[in-house]
Amino acid sequence: MADKCYKCFRPMETCYCKYIKQIETGIKFVFLIHPKEAYKQKTGTGRLAQLSLPDSELIIGVDFTQNKRIRELLSDERYFPVVMYPGEDAWTAGGVRETAPHTLKEAMGEKQLLVFLVDATWACAKKMLRLSPNITSLQKISFTAGYRSEYTFKKEPAEDYLSTIETCYYLIKELQSAGICPSEKAENCAEPLMDVFRRMVKFQIESQKERVAAGLPDRYQVAGGIRAKRRALREARAREACAREIRTGDPKTAENHSS
Ligand SMILES: [Zn+2]
Repeated sequence: MADKCYKCFRPMETCYCKYIKQIETGIKFVFLIHPKEAYKQKTGTGRLAQLSLPDSELIIGVDFTQNKRIRELLSDERYFPVVMYPGEDAWTAGGVRETAPHTLKEAMGEKQLLVFLVDATWACAKKMLRLSPNITSLQKISFTAGYRSEYTFKKEPAEDYLSTIETCYYLIKELQSAGICPSEKAENCAEPLMDVFRRMVKFQIESQKERVAAGLPDRYQVAGGIRAKRRALREARAREACAREIRTGDPKTAENHSS
């Protein structure tokens, strides 16, 4: 693609940069992006999130064990690193874990929360985590509540699947209500994340309608039918295996079930 914006990786005429509003949250985010997702300008929201959060970084890769920047971050005493991943032993913004008598805020002390977020499909995320014990061994953080994605144009089984930018949005909101966002910003400081995301979804729906109106095949139904079903099955299996891997800490258990 000749005229591409090298910030948001979209074609210049539909570049989202003008809609991006940076927000200060006091939380550091690191997006771990699979190379497959890294340049997806249509559906990838990790890059939008990274552009919206000034204190965030985007690291492309699969195996992060030897990653110099991650090593640096993990050995930096200023941070309290966690990985966004569900599980019984995961921290939630305000809740207390059964295994720990204190809240996340108490555990953090004066440190800054550093959230690692894997931006990939379940199958890729599973692989990334399996290869990166320095990330899997981190303490986990998860949501207190359940959320539904507004990513409606992707005809995928999307119940629990939030896009990366939505994940940031809800997590920031939960952390704010738990008093964990140190910068005393306005209560709605995370809204620009949802604004730019909704714009993206709207744009996708509109261009899809235009395609259909012009007699072009529906991009999301072409891949439908058997292929979509197979993919859904693969993703479900990967998700299961990944949860098992995280629970048992044994990567081999999960490997046998990979597709
Ligand atoms: Zn742009």
